[in-house]
Amino acid sequence: MGYENRERLTALWASEVELYRAARPRSEALWRAALPSMPDGVPMLWMAKWPGPWPVYVDDARGAHFSCVDGLDHVDLCLGDTGAMCGHAPPASVAAIAEQLGRGSTYMLPTADAAIAAGLLADRFGLPSWQFSLSATDANRSLIRYARHVTERPKILVIDHCYHGSVDEAFATLDETGAVVERRGNIGPPVPPAATTVVVPFNDVPALERALRELDVAAVLIEPAMTNIGIVLPAPGWHDALRALCDETGTILIIDETHTLCAGPGGMTQRDNLRPDAVVVGKTIGGGIPAGAHGMTEEFAARVRSSLELEDIDVGGVGGTLAGNAASMAGIRATLGEVLTAEVYPAMIERATEWTAGVQAALDEFGVPWQVTQLGARAEYSFRATPPRDGTEAADADDFELQQYLHLHALNRGILITPFHNMALMCPDTTSADVERHTLAFREAVASLYS
Ligand code: PMP
Repeated sequence: MGYENRERLTALWASEVELYRAARPRSEALWRAALPSMPDGVPMLWMAKWPGPWPVYVDDARGAHFSCVDGLDHVDLCLGDTGAMCGHAPPASVAAIAEQLGRGSTYMLPTADAAIAAGLLADRFGLPSWQFSLSATDANRSLIRYARHVTERPKILVIDHCYHGSVDEAFATLDETGAVVERRGNIGPPVPPAATTVVVPFNDVPALERALRELDVAAVLIEPAMTNIGIVLPAPGWHDALRALCDETGTILIIDETHTLCAGPGGMTQRDNLRPDAVVVGKTIGGGIPAGAHGMTEEFAARVRSSLELEDIDVGGVGGTLAGNAASMAGIRATLGEVLTAEVYPAMIERATEWTAGVQAALDEFGVPWQVTQLGARAEYSFRATPPRDGTEAADADDFELQQYLHLHALNRGILITPFHNMALMCPDTTSADVERHTLAFREAVASLYS
């Protein structure tokens, strides 16, 4: 099913690189100036993974667009890989954060905004008890600790090819024999992952059942739909079986809604009436500044709280100096209360439906054997004919060079796609004209490969 004309792909790539070089001299200059002081010239490892010889330097970002230092306008379908799903610089969030910054940003004391933010999250996810962090990664780590602490069980169950941030337990995968091994690219694991982690394929109820019946799993950590290996939707019955098996075996069910907040204001938890023991959110909830949160049922929160000694809580491995800071709390209060409200979701989802239709039309026109899957305000195509059922099927469809070409082609036409995926995300400000820009460019890219 893969793209076979590699010679053509290499030539197309080379011409897109030339276009990029010619159009972005100011970005090049900034990048060259940064090379001596940072590996690859970038402040964070992943920023080296953008297609093209150097990264785009943003000058100004508003809503669904940004302009770069070379004066080019872009439709942003990456949106900071969900960090800016609320749109760039939403005025209500910016005003609330700026106002708070003027009164001090961090005191390690609670502010009135914290309870409002917790209340907004509780309404959306149906879980009453919330704590805050600076990232979704940290929220996942905290819940893993709590789950181990209260269940006194050693292992965490994750899904094959999952991603939950830089959480050690989650960098595990299954080899061909079904053994738990390190995920490719795992940097410096503290212990072999089989010591901490059980892995099952998404949508595989018998494997889940076998694993949980060992009674050594403290928590299942799972996205309600996979979004980090392409989109993989849950099969009918998967979530019911998951909840029932966690109930039967006394396992804590943690649902990570960091990306699936695109499905609705309360993620898939609210949309599909899921009943997790805990939920994780992060990325966009602070309006673009660091904020993560985890919510717990009353029962789980009570088990946690009654097992902790006041004297030790600052050194127990949960929490952090700037977690729950006043600026983050103001950002969450304003972003959930005024920006990423229930009212904006229908239009965001409609834009993603238009994007999906545009991609599908080009695939149909040129007879290309790729599929496109939508999940709320997010959609993604992959290089296989049918929607994947699990992470392995999704991973097997990967073609890094083809992906890089498609992304660079889009970037040269003023469209930014998330570098790790073929994924597009809509924010409240994304318009049908923005989507149309992608539809036209994507058709042109597909034509260059297949006509
Ligand atoms: N959970 C999920 C499902 C994610 O996709 C990510 C990041 N892609 C994270 C957690 C971690 O988010 P962060 O890097 O902001 O901590």
